[in-house]
Amino acid sequence: MIIDCHGHYTTSPKSLEDWRNRQIAALNNPTASPKISDLIISDDELKESIAVNQLKKMQERGSDLTIFSPRASFMAHHIGDFNTSSTWSSICNELCYRISQLFPDNFIGAAMLPQSPGIDPKTCIPELERCVKEYGFVGINLNPDPSGGHWKEPPLSDRHWYPIYEKMVEYDIPAMIHVSTSCNACFHTTGAHYLNADTTAFMQCLTADLFKDFPTLKFVIPHGGGAVPYHWGRFRGLAQELKKPLLKDHLLNNIFFDTCVYHQPGIDLLTKVIPVDNILFASEMIGAVKGIDPETGFYYDDTKRYIEATQNLSVAEKHQVYEGNARRVYPRLDAALKAKGL
Ligand SMILES: [Zn+2]
Repeated sequence: MIIDCHGHYTTSPKSLEDWRNRQIAALNNPTASPKISDLIISDDELKESIAVNQLKKMQERGSDLTIFSPRASFMAHHIGDFNTSSTWSSICNELCYRISQLFPDNFIGAAMLPQSPGIDPKTCIPELERCVKEYGFVGINLNPDPSGGHWKEPPLSDRHWYPIYEKMVEYDIPAMIHVSTSCNACFHTTGAHYLNADTTAFMQCLTADLFKDFPTLKFVIPHGGGAVPYHWGRFRGLAQELKKPLLKDHLLNNIFFDTCVYHQPGIDLLTKVIPVDNILFASEMIGAVKGIDPETGFYYDDTKRYIEATQNLSVAEKHQVYEGNARRVYPRLDAALKAKGL
């Protein structure tokens, strides 16, 4: 089985975006705010939006199951207040849940949280609990910067975030550390802010001792870990200066990287530098980079091709990247598969 740990619902019917635009337009006039019940998307519309997009590409490319979360750039936690985010996340999570019910063999949910800048993360717990207990979601997306590129929250190692971590440990779910739209003109959302955040999250963990407090806490750092694998020597050297343990002991029991790197040399580097136990297959399809690479003739985000072609992994190690590691990092996914005899 090939598990893609990083997919978003980027192909929702236009009515979702229209509802969100009405919500944003009414921020200063709450009486004009749309109701949740104003948004009606039928099962047929949901099916259509997936069948000709993500599911079609999964079948063409040979992946089986995607851990599916709301569209990351649409989370936009910086917009409005907690209530804005709360209503919006509940709508988006429910759509992912319905998709996981319509295509139970192909999609399983991960939750967007109703984060809001300056608001205590413990306000996210009810939605997190609902998604795990009622929807059977197997992970969450945690935004380390709900201000959208202005980095106003404390680092991930700060006690500020502990209520979320306590719940993650209790439920045995990992968090993908995933920012949303940048509202800082200096940072392009998917080309800079996402990769900056991946690198930043890793460094925040490196300088701290978060995993001493939470030995079983798990973070998936997406987009191949941002700059981390490429600069592994820098990070090792910085850890040494800070008298931290070796990175394999300090961070690699808790931090994992996905394979959303869109060219062969990038995957070759990732699989050479980062231990195979810490690499999870993913494509983030259909995401930021939708085009066809003229050098290869294949889609940039057809990441399975790069795993297949790399010389750094044996057949058994590829199986680990495709399936084994995901089942270890997402125990609730493993349990759901086992319950189906898989
Ligand atoms: Zn993503």
